[in-house]
Amino acid sequence: MSLLTTLTRMWLTRTTKPFTFTAEYDEKLPYADCEGLGLYVHIPFCRSLCAFCPYCKTVYTREKCDAYIDALLREIELVGSRHEGKKKVTSLYFGGGTPALAADRISEIINALERHFEITEGIGLELHPDNVNTETLKKLKAAGVTKISIGIQSFLPKYQSILGRAAVDASAMSAALREVEFETVSMDFIFALPGQTFDDLRSDIERAFETGANHVAIYPFIDFTFTPGKVKPMGKRQKRELLDRITGYCLDKGLTRDSIWTFSSVSGAKYSSMTRDNFLGFGCSATTLLKDQFKINTFSVGEYEGRTAEDKLPTSLTIRFTQRQRMIYYLFWKLYSTRLDPADFEVFFGEPLRKKYGMEFRLAEWLGFLRREKGVYRMTLKGAFYYHHYENFYTLAYIDKMWGIMRKQAFPERIEL
Ligand code: SF4
Repeated sequence: MSLLTTLTRMWLTRTTKPFTFTAEYDEKLPYADCEGLGLYVHIPFCRSLCAFCPYCKTVYTREKCDAYIDALLREIELVGSRHEGKKKVTSLYFGGGTPALAADRISEIINALERHFEITEGIGLELHPDNVNTETLKKLKAAGVTKISIGIQSFLPKYQSILGRAAVDASAMSAALREVEFETVSMDFIFALPGQTFDDLRSDIERAFETGANHVAIYPFIDFTFTPGKVKPMGKRQKRELLDRITGYCLDKGLTRDSIWTFSSVSGAKYSSMTRDNFLGFGCSATTLLKDQFKINTFSVGEYEGRTAEDKLPTSLTIRFTQRQRMIYYLFWKLYSTRLDPADFEVFFGEPLRKKYGMEFRLAEWLGFLRREKGVYRMTLKGAFYYHHYENFYTLAYIDKMWGIMRKQAFPERIEL
């Protein structure tokens, strides 16, 4: 882990104690009093595995997927049945993997969740471009899905070949999206690929809106140590120029920036499974964030099914947060939305932001990372770039290390970050 990341962690959490994850866990998850709770479901199957992709996934077969969904339904029942009544939640997101491969069983999963939760802000689901056909979209819509996110990565053949992806049939996709409409149609792209120019990225974004998107997500390429892909990331200066130009282009076009990486063309279009205050995750590798703990399920599909068959939660590791650690986690993800209201912080923690991190926020304003408008902090273009840059460090220092271990061990004893 880099010295910079360690020092930043010690400074912000006011302790030398690392983030410590251990093998113990709660059988009854304490979510009853959590406000702004979201749900996430992980479906780890893909038709083929992309070399650059760090997520927990495995090659699809109908039998494996069915057995996994049976285990998923058991986990939902285990978590939900330990609480009385229905808990109000914000949104439900399906990620993966390629959850659209399980289109025939999505309604079963939603029904199982709705026995214990009342979903108030819609249901989102990720698709591979190959899944964008009328038949699949109709099944998803009938199941209650209101937002979809399509992992395009790039429409341009040169980047598709770098990423090992096949060509996208944009006209077939566009026809299917016209026939079956969703509140949000998001398309994901990767930026900072070797040699990628502003014009390349701009043409991808223009093509996305022409093809039927009303929201785009532009994720930076991150070179995880455990992925077999050989793509070299772009240098810092080039990346900053590209990010600033593409952000300026999107804002000039009248798009709204809803988070560091996402822009939308209509106000109701939103797709983010990351910016919720608390969430419950179901499925292998899914994470759960509650008031004072964060837990992560096993990455092993076999062990996941084994644990739920014994009526036990498939939790692999849990961290019990100190208050400062939880605050840092909260601030990190709130700032991802490029907006932070100190009043929300005070409601969540019962203490004013200025008392806990007044100096850091004054420093961020002085450095030009944040600007205060009517009491609310907004991230500047400069702040967004440095957030991006730090996020890269954070991902490599924390997520890369943790996922690297969890891919090899279903239930590690302890991980310190
Ligand atoms: S990028 Fe998407 S399709 Fe490719 S392996 Fe990852 S989850 Fe599967």
